[in-house]
Amino acid sequence: MNFSTSKALHDEALNHIVGGVNSPSRAYKGVGGGTPVYMDHGKGAYFWDVDGNQYIDYLGAYGPIITGHGHPHIAEAISNAAKTGVLYGTPTKLENQFAKMLKSAIPSLEKVRFTNSGTEAVMTTVRVARAYTGRNKIIKFSGSYHGHFDSVLVEAGSGPATLGTPDSAGIPQSVAEDVITVPFNDTDTFQKAMERWGDEMAAVLVEPIVGNFGIVKPHDGFLKRVNDIAHDAGSLVIYDEVITAFRFTYGSAQQIYGVTPDMTAMGKIIGGGLPIGAYGGRQDIMEQVAPLGPAYQSGTMAGNPASMASGIACLEVLQEPRVYEELDRLGERLENGILEKASEAGIPISVNRMCGALTVYFGTDSVENYDEADASDGDAFARFFHLMLEEGINLAPSKFEAWFLTTEHTDEDINATIEAAGKAFAAMTED
Ligand code: PMP
Repeated sequence: MNFSTSKALHDEALNHIVGGVNSPSRAYKGVGGGTPVYMDHGKGAYFWDVDGNQYIDYLGAYGPIITGHGHPHIAEAISNAAKTGVLYGTPTKLENQFAKMLKSAIPSLEKVRFTNSGTEAVMTTVRVARAYTGRNKIIKFSGSYHGHFDSVLVEAGSGPATLGTPDSAGIPQSVAEDVITVPFNDTDTFQKAMERWGDEMAAVLVEPIVGNFGIVKPHDGFLKRVNDIAHDAGSLVIYDEVITAFRFTYGSAQQIYGVTPDMTAMGKIIGGGLPIGAYGGRQDIMEQVAPLGPAYQSGTMAGNPASMASGIACLEVLQEPRVYEELDRLGERLENGILEKASEAGIPISVNRMCGALTVYFGTDSVENYDEADASDGDAFARFFHLMLEEGINLAPSKFEAWFLTTEHTDEDINATIEAAGKAFAAMTED
């Protein structure tokens, strides 16, 4: 494949944009370097780069793009919003409509508030939990990523882990001291931490199905125990469903596992590809938020008509029959096909999958927490990533990220991807 136009654009970008990218995960640092591919346009499950190369997209823009690129229903909603004004700085009825849609899909959201990003949504839940409990500490699971605000860039997964900076520079020691991290899926360590710090703990922050050191499901009963232990200590439970909301079911991970958090943060899919975040939860807790209460959060663009219209349209598409069954069916085919090709080539991998999202780990039998994901073979993944790219399969450039299917992927796309993986594994055995 020829990437010369991407390369020229990237050389130019390096002169103007720090690191050449506006989000660090987009650089190919996590896959041994190379020029990030510059996309030109997309349609459905495909996108085309500036050199004219076509790809099947499994990046899904790191999660939001579940209905494929340029979905006509969403495009129409955005285009209508563009024509009638994208921002007024006043409330609009779209905000009510969308808030009602979210509430009926996720019953624990007694009240919601829209933000512009997942980071803002999670950040505010932490502030509100501190305001509500009068406590400062939070506890999170190592390798989970909750956005780029100070408190959560401690043992963070996803981009920070990929770039070797799970503990970001620039975080005051005083902030880091209030953040406790424990391994995911380890109830005993969580319990011990809560025995020690429980009476200072404002909240536990949980990605109920992890998406940021690959897709990692909670062990049976883990989420329920975390809820019970936190509540016994008077701490709140915040679910970060920025990836998981509407990814695996029309609703959220909390419904899949039958566990109810006090607050939930969302983002990604609920914007249909436009910038968005949202948080919500128990009414008495949400009443801490201004203008009703003393915890401040605001946003010039928050609840803007374009993001609302796009989000509503996206959820309408996801309400169509059999969306999640089909994502699951294709996801299962992809998982089985990749495992089969790897085994034929004698390449040791394991696959974690939930519905239409999966992660392929090299050199491991199973991954159930961050340390196991971290121990997976990054060099092998990097080689696989570049070989797949050459075959026209676009994956996220990190061993810690998920592959995301969309409603537009077809059996033919899955066949082509399995075929490409077979070729990539075969090439790896020849190295
Ligand atoms: N929480 C989780 C679980 C995420 O995966 C992300 C983004 N990858 C965020 C929060 C931050 O969202 P945003 O990038 O929209 O700020």
